[in-house]
Parts: sequence; structure tokens; C-alpha cells
Amino acid sequence: MPRKLIIAIDGYSSCGKSTFAKAIARKLDYIYIDSGAMYRAVTLYCLRKGYAGREELKTANILNDIKIIDISFVYNPDISEYETYLNSENVEKEIRGIEVSSHVSRISQIPEVRDRMVALQRQIGVFKGIVMDGRDIGTVVFPDADLKIFMTASVDIRARRRFDELRGKNIHVDFEEIRNNIIARDIADENRDISPLRKAPDAIVLDNSRMTVSQQMDWVMDIIRTLTDGN
Ligand code: C5P
Repeated sequence: MPRKLIIAIDGYSSCGKSTFAKAIARKLDYIYIDSGAMYRAVTLYCLRKGYAGREELKTANILNDIKIIDISFVYNPDISEYETYLNSENVEKEIRGIEVSSHVSRISQIPEVRDRMVALQRQIGVFKGIVMDGRDIGTVVFPDADLKIFMTASVDIRARRRFDELRGKNIHVDFEEIRNNIIARDIADENRDISPLRKAPDAIVLDNSRMTVSQQMDWVMDIIRTLTDGN
């Protein structure tokens, strides 16, 4: 049996990381972990508690509660996918809304929030045979990952994809709001002090602006074959 890999997929918001990562996991029978969903779930918790929102962040409250925020992924056989749970509640739909998207970059800049998420992500990675997508997976979470991919695509294409995805889930959104949110998140993710979005030196760049998922799969399966052949 070929050896099991850790595959790290980082890149900008809405460039199809999760679609791609899920497809790889399905093909290889690996576990897929959406690290962004974990930051989104913490953000939802903070919004509900009033620790984030229009006013200043209530950082002391967030630091106090971070230890009791439990995030897990539970398989839903009806859709053949894992869904995100926050303290035993299925929050998969709510964490994708624009309110969470607008606040998640601020929450994910808090060092203690990152420390806790990175620890959880590493625990999951112990077993290998995983595909994890995010912003710092190849640089911080798994610097020794077997394969690192850095994904990018044009802002307009990314906004269109996110717009279509949310509409498909019956979440009503305005295209310009989505586009502005993507630009703002790129700036926040690239410029934060802790674990900014960066391409790891040994990551392979994938610009999928003009690629279908099936073309991306052909591309990555060739690479994976060379990594696992004879191992
Ligand atoms: O991937 P997604 O867009 O759902 O991620 C939501 C947000 O979570 C990102 O904009 C980023 O601020 C944060 N994030 C992060 N580190 C990760 C994954 C996501 O800071 N590994």
C-alpha cells in the first residue's frame, strides 16, 4: 500500500481550496480538514456572545472562553461530507454567512486563538492521510508536509465562485459585498503579524483561474503519483 501523506493546501480566500482539497481526499480516501471552518466557528461563537461585532473585540472574554470552545467535524452520510460542529451544534451553514466572513479575519489574528487551532489541527494530523486547507498549513501547522500547494486565482473569478456557492446554498448575498469582503480578507490575511498568508518556499503554485476541477485533479494526481510510487 502506498505511504499516506499530509497534503497542505494554502492560498487566498475563495480560490477553490476546499473543493480541490475535498476532491483529493475523496480520490485518495483521506480525511479532509477545513481549517478555515474552525476559525469561522470561533468567530460565530464570539458574535453570539457579543465578544465581536460592531464594537471593539472583547479580547479578555475570548481568551477566557477559548479553552471551552470545542470544534469537531462530523460526517453527514446524506451529503457524504463532514460538517462543522461548535460545542455539539451543527453550524455548517451559519459559519458561511457574510456576518461571520466579515469578522473572521479579526478573530483569527488573536495569537491565543491561533495557538489553540494549530494544536487541534496537529492532533488531527497525527494519523497522516489528510488533506488540510487554510492559510498557514504549509508554513506553520505542518512545515514538514509531504506536499504543499499554494492556490491563487483572480479576484473577480473568486468573487463569482463564492457568489455562486452561497446562492446555491440559498444564502442571499450581494456580488459587490462578496468582492469587497474577499479583497479585505486578502489584505488582512497577508498583513497580520502572526502567521500571515505566505507561500512556503517549497510549495507549488497553482493558479486555477482558468482550470476546471478535473484539470486540477489531473495535475495534482501526477504529482502525488511521483511522491508515492515505490513507497
Ligand atoms: O478558508 P476560509 O475563507 O473559510 O477561512 C476564513 C478565514 O479564516 C480566513 O479569511 C482567515 O482569516 C482565517 N484562516 C486563518 N488560517 C487558516 C484558515 C483560515 O487565519 N489556516
